[in-house]
Amino acid sequence: MTELAPGIHSLGHGKGGHVHAFLIDDGVELTLVDTLFEGDGRLVFDAIRRLGRKPSDLKRIALTHGHRSHLGGLAALKRASGATVLAHEWEADIIAGDRRAQPVSILPRQSLRLLPFQLGLWLGRPKHVPCPADELLGEGDELGPLQTLHAPGHSPGHLAFWWPERKFLIAGDGVATWPELCPGWYAFNLNKRQHHGTLQRLASLEARIVGVGHGDPIAQGATDKIHQLAGQPVP
Ligand SMILES: [Zn+2]
Ligand SMILES: [Zn+2]
Repeated sequence: MTELAPGIHSLGHGKGGHVHAFLIDDGVELTLVDTLFEGDGRLVFDAIRRLGRKPSDLKRIALTHGHRSHLGGLAALKRASGATVLAHEWEADIIAGDRRAQPVSILPRQSLRLLPFQLGLWLGRPKHVPCPADELLGEGDELGPLQTLHAPGHSPGHLAFWWPERKFLIAGDGVATWPELCPGWYAFNLNKRQHHGTLQRLASLEARIVGVGHGDPIAQGATDKIHQLAGQPVP
């Protein structure tokens, strides 16, 4: 766990393509964005304990989108905390296990290291433990100190989150820094035109710190780096 700024904690591990989740502490309640790859939520529980908190302090769990790497601990965390689970309506049925995420091509693109994830989505394996959303979330909704941004393109109901006072952005899979800085993993972005628009909007926020779905957060030169990605066509 890394504290990026007061109240902003980045949780990551090597699994799920260096997937990251974010634990937000506004001084009263905890908000979690995404739930990492491991099924048991252990890494998130450890992080909550290290903050001197208990699982019941976790009030809400928001999902950026319905891809497997981000949903690992969801059911276990919901059970232990009673937190409200929130997702966009175009991802909620995937998260609830009612529909499979849309497969992507299994041809090599960008990096051979991404092939296992392309294949996983194609096969629908491994599965996550389904967990229904308690509430739907969309553009403009407040989530503790965070504002919700509908950021489609990578997937139709993809969400980003913005903490204006901290100039902190959670870009989800709209941006990745592993295996390299890129506008999301190329093979996975379902609608490139929408995604290009999303990147331009994210760049206009002029974020100081950017948490991304895969790879380490961007803590240096974040504004310039997001502008740079937004200035190029999405591959
Ligand atoms: Zn994704
Ligand atoms: Zn992902």
